[in-house]
Formats: sequence, C-alpha cells, structure tokens
Amino acid sequence: MASRLIRKVGEDVLRKKARPVDQIDNKILVLLDDMVETMRAANGVGLAAPQVGVLKRIVVIDAGEGLLELINPEIVATEGAVIDVEGCLSIPGKMGEVERPAKVTVKYTDRTGKEVTATGEGLLARAFCHELDHLDGVLYIDKAKRMIDPDEE
Ligand code: ZN
Repeated sequence: MASRLIRKVGEDVLRKKARPVDQIDNKILVLLDDMVETMRAANGVGLAAPQVGVLKRIVVIDAGEGLLELINPEIVATEGAVIDVEGCLSIPGKMGEVERPAKVTVKYTDRTGKEVTATGEGLLARAFCHELDHLDGVLYIDKAKRMIDPDEE
C-alpha cells in the first residue's frame, strides 16, 4: 500500500466526471488499498478517487461505523434534511455549512464484485453525499450555505 498525493481545489481533475469501473482488476484493488491508506493518513472520513487524480467511480468511507469501499456507487433513496458543518481533504483549512439528507441509501459494488445496499444516517449519510458528489466534479463549497474559517471560531 502507498499513500497518494491528495489533489487540491483549483486542480482540473476535481471538476471532471469520473467514469464507471467496468472490471475489478488488480489495479482497482491496489487503488482501493492506497485510497484507504491515504484517507487514514490524512484523518479523513472519506476519499473519492478523483481526489487522488484518478477519474474512476470509487469512494472509500470510514465514518466510525467500519470501512466501506464503494465501486460505482449510486444514491437510491434519501430522507429528510440536516444542515451541518463539513470539510474536505482537498480544501484544507476550510469548513462550511451544507444541507444534506438525514438518511441516505446507496447501492454499490464491493471489492469482491458483490452488489451491496447500505443505509447511513448522520455523518455517514453526509459522507455518502459528499464523496459521491466528487465523482461528478461537485465540491461542497458549491453547495455551502455559509463558509466558516475554523481559525476564527
Ligand atoms: Zn471532499
């Protein structure tokens, strides 16, 4: 496993639409391992492949409920709405208030090729939305109702 360079806001790769994974080969498994290592080294809750410069529909999340590795994830249901603060490893030193669904169900393929459905609430629901947005070139700063400078709080 190797930690990869996290791309920062302003880099084109963060604004492009990622392509679906059609085959889970060794390259994809290595990418998943590297993404997990990169997320953990940065103390992140989630990381999307475009954030390490790879335009593939892959996300890793650990919101304190166990590691999830999502290939070709799609949101299939949402419920409610919550405004809370979030940040992004690609936008260091900033936070913003973003409205997200309170409960989110996603469908994805895991690393073994199995189709999985998972439902998250709170931080996990927020992470699903935030990370899946990355796959379409969307950043939370596009949706934030208010930006917060953590140094001024
Ligand atoms: Zn992010």
